[in-house]
Amino acid sequence: MDTIGHFINGQHAGTVPGGRFAATFNPATGEQIGQVLLGTVDQVGFAVKAAAAALPAWAATPAPARARVMFRFKDLLERNMDRLAALITREHGKTIEDAKGELIRGIEVVEFACGIPHLLKGEFSDQVGRGVDTFSMRHPVGVCVGITPFNFPAMVPLWMFPVALACGNSFVLKPSEKDPSLALVLAELLAEAGLPAGVFNVVNGDKEAVDALLSHPQVAAVSFVGSTAVGEYVYRTATAHGKRAQALCGAKNHLVVMPDADLDRTVDALMGSGYGSAGERCMAVSVAVAVGGIGDELIARLAPKVQALKVGPGTDPDSEMGPLVTKEHLAKVSGYVDTGVAEGAKLVVDGRGLKLQGHENGYYLGGCLFDHVTPDMKIYRDEIFGPVLSVVRVPGFDEALRLVNEHEYGNGAAIFTRNGDAARAFDYGVLAGMVGINVPIPVPIAYHSFGGWKRSIFGDRNVYGLEGVGFYTRLKTTTTRWTGDVRGGAEFVMPVLA
Ligand code: NAD
Repeated sequence: MDTIGHFINGQHAGTVPGGRFAATFNPATGEQIGQVLLGTVDQVGFAVKAAAAALPAWAATPAPARARVMFRFKDLLERNMDRLAALITREHGKTIEDAKGELIRGIEVVEFACGIPHLLKGEFSDQVGRGVDTFSMRHPVGVCVGITPFNFPAMVPLWMFPVALACGNSFVLKPSEKDPSLALVLAELLAEAGLPAGVFNVVNGDKEAVDALLSHPQVAAVSFVGSTAVGEYVYRTATAHGKRAQALCGAKNHLVVMPDADLDRTVDALMGSGYGSAGERCMAVSVAVAVGGIGDELIARLAPKVQALKVGPGTDPDSEMGPLVTKEHLAKVSGYVDTGVAEGAKLVVDGRGLKLQGHENGYYLGGCLFDHVTPDMKIYRDEIFGPVLSVVRVPGFDEALRLVNEHEYGNGAAIFTRNGDAARAFDYGVLAGMVGINVPIPVPIAYHSFGGWKRSIFGDRNVYGLEGVGFYTRLKTTTTRWTGDVRGGAEFVMPVLA
């Protein structure tokens, strides 16, 4: 059995006398495969202290030298791709190919961070007054913290720390206790890439470690990705302690199907975005909005495909969908299916009770498809975070747009149509941070930025791209006068252009 500890000041800290541990499981088999150390206030203190001590030298390292560490890190991630993907699948359950997909999306942020000298080069204005010049530069904020969810153990941390480190900050990562191993390998690879000890640290743990990070006086900024309830708490607590904070949270992503949509493409898009990664993606589509009379045909085409989904261990190359992450999450998602039936939605495909031969104890749920879901139902309002797709029928475009906009979440939203007017009106009017036009999961590329609207985000900065650079830096604007019309004597009025 693995013992998963912390990584502090360039070293593994696997066991601590009297430490608290949580079990980790392989979701494909239900077997316990490890135990993870749950950080205490003192252990968090060691990590933050190491990050604070490493900060001045790293911040003073020229940006091109920091970028070179990122170049080497990118190369190491690519060379270790198979090992990293296997580790993700072992603890999370997603298929190996999907694990590679999340790694590639994470590596794209490292590629973006490799361009940091250009991104930090600042602004200069000469002659803002006679003989007076002004320049603005972005400086690191200090010790940054990342608190990340189970569903992307590689990609979500990689949304944060490559940009933070490239900007000259040090970092403490608190990964999900459900799949904590990958973060330690990322720490080893950063060290191998030449990152000095203490610049990147990993503290495993639960609420105790998170609370210690949120209130630590030497922490400057907190990035969180996870559920809305926890994210709102993290944002409020971090900001109450005077920290810069961003919290990217839960979602209920709608895909509007217009009557003129290419139904073959739409159905494929709904299958991939609804059931890929067993629906455990913050950008998963969990509601299909059937506009006009398209509902019957949509259901007729979706149902056999959902029925035929190949569910199996993530290590089986034939699996399209792996297990859910934990036994508790399986029970929660199955419970939502029970609720949907009780609320009167029509369960067209029932994936409950799936048992796979040889994997009887794995956390599997077959694809589930509901029709005639209405906005007052709990299965419509809540984020289920499993392979459950709800179809809501509306008469027209206006009702579809209103439905999407009235939901409390606004992460992603998509429309499938051949009509440019409808696409443009949807894009303009929809209250969501990321919009797809004939694209079901519009996760922005690394040189744009990721973030939702409404209760899918707390804070005013998205992650990665220029938003990430803004979040992980603070602006310093300097006004200089070396030559020119310098006279003696005090000036008691507000300086204005002469
Ligand atoms: P979660 O909120 O349970 O956990 C996220 C992190 O918070 C973990 O590191 C966890 O240890 C910590 N945590 C959990 N409970 C806590 C508490 N009471 N106090 C302090 N810290 C606590 O989320 P999860 O189940 O790991 O991930 C799934 C959620 O993440 C979904 O809601 C999904 O939509 C969301 N998510 C959002 C995005 C996005 O970018 N918007 C991306 C990925 C996942």
